[in-house]
Amino acid sequence: MAEPPAIEVEDLSKHYGPVRAVDGISFSVVRGATCALLGGNGAGKTTTIAMLLGLLLPTGGQIRILSEDVPRHRQRVLPRMNFSSPYVDLPQRLTVAENLTVYARLYGVRHVRERLATLGRELDIDAFFQRPYGSLSAGQKTRVALAKALLNQPEILLLDEPTASLDPDSADRIRAILTDYQHQSGATLLLASHNMSEVERLCDQVVMLRAGRIVATGTPRELIHRYGRKDMEEVFLDIARGIQSGEVVE
Ligand code: ATP
Repeated sequence: MAEPPAIEVEDLSKHYGPVRAVDGISFSVVRGATCALLGGNGAGKTTTIAMLLGLLLPTGGQIRILSEDVPRHRQRVLPRMNFSSPYVDLPQRLTVAENLTVYARLYGVRHVRERLATLGRELDIDAFFQRPYGSLSAGQKTRVALAKALLNQPEILLLDEPTASLDPDSADRIRAILTDYQHQSGATLLLASHNMSEVERLCDQVVMLRAGRIVATGTPRELIHRYGRKDMEEVFLDIARGIQSGEVVE
């Protein structure tokens, strides 16, 4: 029998009064795949990720992660997941090592010192382990946040704009780290991104949102072909503006 998808979302919605932040979306991600959640500002990406993490209660619909119902059995699946976002800060006055140690203990990581040493090396953050987190640059903070997200070697990694505000070199390094992690671990990745070259490089699958609804799905290559464009940047503009095969649909 085929393995169930790592992430299954069915008719998921989140309403805030009259605002339909997420409006009946369904998609699934097979184990070991990297899926991009795309869409313009306010399309519903962050809201979707927050519901996958069980941080927000859906208005309707279902989420199964690693075959567990979220939010009902969130506690069963959370130890096998993690999350990184440049918009979530760690305590500023604690050093990087202290921050990572606190999270490692929270996650029940065994051999904390060894895990920190490995991540320090792999993410090239060991040089600032003893510095307060608040004194780091945006790019350094992003690498530390990613280290936090990899502490428990998650099977499901959710990433909200993993390379936002990074210079091209730092962004490239983060992408290489993510690719290496996935190859080593077979983890499933879901990432919200505004960077279309990142999507082409990392993602097997794209779910494109507009106003809380799914407006296109496929591999980057399929979408580029379907829209007759040269890259995902052009496809994104077409879909975000409601253009399909050269025709405005709304
Ligand atoms: P961005 O790319 O700008 O980060 P996004 O795709 O992540 O956007 P969301 O943050 O999921 O978008 O927001 C989707 C919609 O839901 C937006 O219209 C937003 O204003 C609305 N929204 C989100 N949270 C709330 C809330 N707590 N109360 C009311 N409306 C909300």
